[in-house]
Amino acid sequence: MPNAYYHTLNLSLHMTYADILARARAHEQDTVRMLCDLVRTPSFSSKEKDVIEVITTMMQSIGFDEVRTDGLGSVIGRIGSGPRTIAFDAHIDTVYAGDVSQWRSDPFTPRVEDGKVWGRGSVDQKGGMASMLAAGRLMKELDLGKGLTVLFTGTVMEEDCDGLCWLHLIREEKIRPELVVITEPTNMNIYRGHRGRMEMHVTVKGVSCHGSAPERGVNAIYKASRIALEIERLNERLRSDPFLGKGTVTVTEVVTSSPSLCAVADGARLHLDRRLTAGETKESAIAEVQEAAARAGVPDAVVSLLTYNETAYTGKVYPMEKYYPTWTMPETSPYLKAAVTAYRGVLGRNAIVDKWTFSTNGVAIAGIHGIPCMGLGPGDEVYAHAPNEATPIEHLTGAAAFYAGLMGTLSGELQ
Ligand SMILES: [Zn+2]
Repeated sequence: MPNAYYHTLNLSLHMTYADILARARAHEQDTVRMLCDLVRTPSFSSKEKDVIEVITTMMQSIGFDEVRTDGLGSVIGRIGSGPRTIAFDAHIDTVYAGDVSQWRSDPFTPRVEDGKVWGRGSVDQKGGMASMLAAGRLMKELDLGKGLTVLFTGTVMEEDCDGLCWLHLIREEKIRPELVVITEPTNMNIYRGHRGRMEMHVTVKGVSCHGSAPERGVNAIYKASRIALEIERLNERLRSDPFLGKGTVTVTEVVTSSPSLCAVADGARLHLDRRLTAGETKESAIAEVQEAAARAGVPDAVVSLLTYNETAYTGKVYPMEKYYPTWTMPETSPYLKAAVTAYRGVLGRNAIVDKWTFSTNGVAIAGIHGIPCMGLGPGDEVYAHAPNEATPIEHLTGAAAFYAGLMGTLSGELQ
């Protein structure tokens, strides 16, 4: 096939970042159409089967080299079979629509208006998936990514348990890329980390007795209340990091038990939402809460880390501790340098490098498994989980071109 060969050769000899953006713009309507098809296919956590089928069909029609799903039901599309493996990740589950009366139109009937695609998941983060699919098409058409195996993962259950899908990919599917690019919304900035988080229970026991003579018993609610006030003080003492910000802890629920409403409570439980900054671990966080309980005069309070135990749409249960470690990519990382280069090349301006406020699958990829991670995604995170979610179409195209351009930078095909 000499003609095809020379055609390919010509493209790679003369290709520039600007060519990639131009090609992405030529496909813009198709990228919008793909995002609309994803939005109109609801995919709440653990109910993603339909949208996974839609993405599988899209990957196949674009000409991905392999498309398959794993045991939890995440879809994995592959382009190339080189020795270096890079992955792009989009979680394709979404939260529910919430109060539909706050939406200007039906959240699951996508609308293209004012240069944006509107609908549930357009920002968080089906827009990232649509840009990944468009990037796959660019890689195929421009024959980009020599020496690379590029995986495009559409992952499940992230909204309920960030990172679980990637624990499964790493541990069960033995996927270990040298770099994972997360496509959660960044408003087209490059993000290199975020705070971690964990969920804990603090359980205390009391001794019930008749409510008419409370002095005979020990009220578990009073013990839990003293601990709750110590948690408030603990929050003020927690450390801060110049890049990631401050660690926080707050009580989000109190559950109590009592034989009757005319009896002293014999049990109480606090639910804690803990956000972890640099240097904080589950061990240090548990020890701090235990110490807060001791300060409250309740040293026998039991502090426990929770476990996520829900069933995937495939029927598989893959338990995970609700500990989602902090992660950052160092500022000096060569991957970050490559991303900044590709960004300037494709988008013609300097990238802002920052961090997410929320948590992503990076907690498992980088936080637990130490695989380098960074991210860029279409849409502004302030619209995530909000009514009237919308992603600018120029973000979709820009992100697609950036993903393809980055593969060209990493493979050495573009400088
Ligand atoms: Zn998200």
